[in-house]
Amino acid sequence: SAPASADEPLAIMGAGLVGSLLALYLARRGHPVQVFERLPDPRQQGLLGGRSINLALSDRGWRALAGVGVADDIRQVGIPMYRRVMHDGQGQLTFQPYGQENQAIYSINRGNLNCTLLDLAEQEPGVQITFGQKLLQLDLPGRRLHLQDVATGHAHDVAYQRLFGADGAFSAVRGALQRTDRTDYSQQYLEYGYKELTIAAGEGGSWQLEKNALHIWPRGNFLMIALPNLDGSFNATLFFPYEGDKSFAALQTPADVTTFFTTVFPDAVPLMPQLTEEFFDHPTGSLVTIRCFPWAYRDSVLLLGDAAHAIVPFYGQGMNAGFEDCTVLNQLLDQLGEDNWPTVMKAFETQRKPNTDAMADLALYNFVEMRDRVADPRFLLQKKIESKIAAQYPGQWVPLYSRVTFSPDTSYAEAWAAGQRQEAIMARVMPLIQNELDFDKPEVQSLVAQALASAY
Ligand code: FAD
Repeated sequence: SAPASADEPLAIMGAGLVGSLLALYLARRGHPVQVFERLPDPRQQGLLGGRSINLALSDRGWRALAGVGVADDIRQVGIPMYRRVMHDGQGQLTFQPYGQENQAIYSINRGNLNCTLLDLAEQEPGVQITFGQKLLQLDLPGRRLHLQDVATGHAHDVAYQRLFGADGAFSAVRGALQRTDRTDYSQQYLEYGYKELTIAAGEGGSWQLEKNALHIWPRGNFLMIALPNLDGSFNATLFFPYEGDKSFAALQTPADVTTFFTTVFPDAVPLMPQLTEEFFDHPTGSLVTIRCFPWAYRDSVLLLGDAAHAIVPFYGQGMNAGFEDCTVLNQLLDQLGEDNWPTVMKAFETQRKPNTDAMADLALYNFVEMRDRVADPRFLLQKKIESKIAAQYPGQWVPLYSRVTFSPDTSYAEAWAAGQRQEAIMARVMPLIQNELDFDKPEVQSLVAQALASAY
């Protein structure tokens, strides 16, 4: 293959969230970048439906956006969410802050974010984004893309020297890698699907629920969540079993839906005037965890984002992890140089794989927390005790959620390991606790002190 250099042209498959940010990073390094995207240009077509309308963006994502200087622009169109608000079956509310005062995750519109990143990428000299180009096949040894022009059906080939697969959970680039020798691959679906619904804006574009919060209706084996939009509405998502007593299969008519929602989400239903239409018009999305390895093919192809590690959405980290991929790749290029792609690609997958595996586990773990544990008063008491420990031992005790969400210098794997150590300590502490004041009891204080001394 031709010798690599700092101005070597690079190809990216997929102009989604990760592909468009990656284009910006690579162009800033001086590379001409060619991006191919199956869908039409979302800036011209109006945003086509599909994956969730708004996303929670947190510190790992912010760091990646700041790395190309766009975090401030995007923060202006985000809504900070400082806490979880839990809605019980009677419409009673309980609250759980996400972090310390002023720490927030941000509700960001997916379409706006993607369009902003595409605009910024295209402003860079040397970036060319071609829409309506679907990758049909990839000739790995020959380094050729076999593309179809979606509008005309016409197929054509494009040669590449280096290709980045950012084409999402059902990546065609990964499909080609999967057919090479000694490639591991697994996909695991939950028996749950999701449905996107709308909580309407109030009069004059006001918010009918607390604006700066992520709302959760935990119901044991299912849940609904809602994130705020700038226009006063909320984008709600129902996560619900496909089959069974309470399931998508059990709700067949508008009357079924109305009765069920009125029983289980009584405070939300009056705010959802489009409920039955949306329930039957909107598709039911599935939820999958995809793991694979290796992510690189020799020194010519590298997977990033959902193409390498699709996870379930319950920690709000899929996009953040994909954005963090861009940060890490950029750091490795700084350290190792662009004339060293074999080493860069190897280092990238070696460093990222344990972290994205940990994140996949964390996302599955948080599903149980969100749908079930947050409704348990003992769990909420435990969280209060943990924040007291954190205040007493700053730096030593950091809540798991904060490590994952607000501590971008801690890797996902370190966060998960520390979280498990802390959970083991709490399993010993909580039997001694009946209320918040019990935290000051001498036996609790000494147990915590001892456990921390031996755990760290
Ligand atoms: P994608 O966004 O899927 O983009 C891939 C692109 O490649 C697409 O534009 C696609 O059209 C294109 N493409 C695909 N195949 C081809 C082909 N053959 N040829 C050419 N182009 C192709 N993450 C968070 O961080 N926070 C959240 O709150 C959050 N909530 C979520 C809620 C739900 C319900 C879901 C499903 C996911 C959520 N995520 C969240 C995860 C997030 O959506 C993904 O991690 C993120 O979109 C991954 O970005 P990507 O660019 O890797 O893939």
